[in-house]
Amino acid sequence: MIPEPRSRPTDVTAPPRSALRRVVQEIADLVFASVCAGCGAAGAALCLSCEAELAPRVVRPRSDVVPLRAGLVFDGVAASVLRAVKEEGQTSLIRSLRPALAAAVDDLCAGAGAPRRIDAVVPLPTTRAAFRRRGFRVPEILARGTGVPLLRALSYARRVQDQRGLDARERRANLAGGLVASRAGEGAAALIVDDVITTGSTCAEAARALRAAGFQVVGAVAVAATGRRG
Ligand SMILES: [Zn+2]
Repeated sequence: MIPEPRSRPTDVTAPPRSALRRVVQEIADLVFASVCAGCGAAGAALCLSCEAELAPRVVRPRSDVVPLRAGLVFDGVAASVLRAVKEEGQTSLIRSLRPALAAAVDDLCAGAGAPRRIDAVVPLPTTRAAFRRRGFRVPEILARGTGVPLLRALSYARRVQDQRGLDARERRANLAGGLVASRAGEGAAALIVDDVITTGSTCAEAARALRAAGFQVVGAVAVAATGRRG
């Protein structure tokens, strides 16, 4: 939350005591202007108990197309923080979501059938409308934090409708053929990164587009997942 701009003091000869009081008040205003994105409590952009709620609990949404992993269930604090990032532009909160994404990657890379390597992380592209609205790309910021080389290999082949409010079947139809790889994969092992997995149809479409261009898609990871769960 951005505090209202304060008017500049005009009385430059004010006694030091009142100047000090003003400084103290300004600091207090700054501190208490922050409210927790998880619970709304005053004090910090994310309180300690909400930060604890973001400790990863990996979920494995079902998919016949591509292995899916998310670090959290999309509800409660996780949903509130993701909304604050996406709709209110509180990008500093992305830091608190990184452990969830890292846990999703670790889970995908453990156990039988795990990929032997990941050559690149490919963020889901942001629609032009969403980028205009936000001014930043959440999947790309998340992907940058994984430590694996980032590859912007996907783009929209045509205009797709906003997925919000569509059911699983409508999402699939809306997205079919909607993504295209902008470069050849030449066998590179790619990991898809998104912020939230809802029905998995966006990740499935991304996997289809990447495979069609010669990528090996090892899976798709997100901070949180909602909907069907395995
Ligand atoms: Zn809180």
